[in-house]
Amino acid sequence: MIEKYYRGLQGQPSVVNLIKRREVLVPDHFRFKSGRHSDVYFAKDRLMLHSRDLALIRGQMVDHLRSMIQMDQFDGFIGAAHYGIPLTAVCAVHCFEQSSESKVMFTAEKGPQGLFIRRGLRNEIKGKRLVMLDDVLTMATTVDEVASLVTSLGGSLIGLLALINRHPVMQESLKRLAFADWLVTSDLPDWEATSCPLCAAGIELNMEYGHAA
Ligand SMILES: [Zn+2]
Repeated sequence: MIEKYYRGLQGQPSVVNLIKRREVLVPDHFRFKSGRHSDVYFAKDRLMLHSRDLALIRGQMVDHLRSMIQMDQFDGFIGAAHYGIPLTAVCAVHCFEQSSESKVMFTAEKGPQGLFIRRGLRNEIKGKRLVMLDDVLTMATTVDEVASLVTSLGGSLIGLLALINRHPVMQESLKRLAFADWLVTSDLPDWEATSCPLCAAGIELNMEYGHAA
């Protein structure tokens, strides 16, 4: 079953191979933040385990970014907790090492009221043009949340680059950005809880990954 999902991965070959090598697609029964259920989870933490893998990912992400935007057309990156944070850090450092372009880097943390920027850095966002780096796009709700947060602090979110898009489509809300793209697409299923075949079969939710707890 899981082999079918690996075969469905499309995009940057070295990243596709890395996803296979690290066995990032985990089969079981999962509930996502959106409330939807699936029989496969993209375990991005497995891609953040080895520095060699992160080095490959940052190179591919920054190369891809350069194909979409000139590097002097934006001020820096923003990533959402948790795995957007290491991505933004390694990519920002890579920009500097490649061409001495220093980029700002913001972290959107998760709080009880949603995503937030720590008070000490909120004023720094004003006037900044930011690119969001994300690990896995599912419904793009986090992107919407980050865009609102950046706008409310006087900055602008101009683009998005994700490692993987779980669906081979451009989510409607992303069309508001100047650009939105990803290195790899998959076509992994998910369902409303009420029409989940795994729930119907009485299979327990995986408590390690996803938002089952
Ligand atoms: Zn289910």
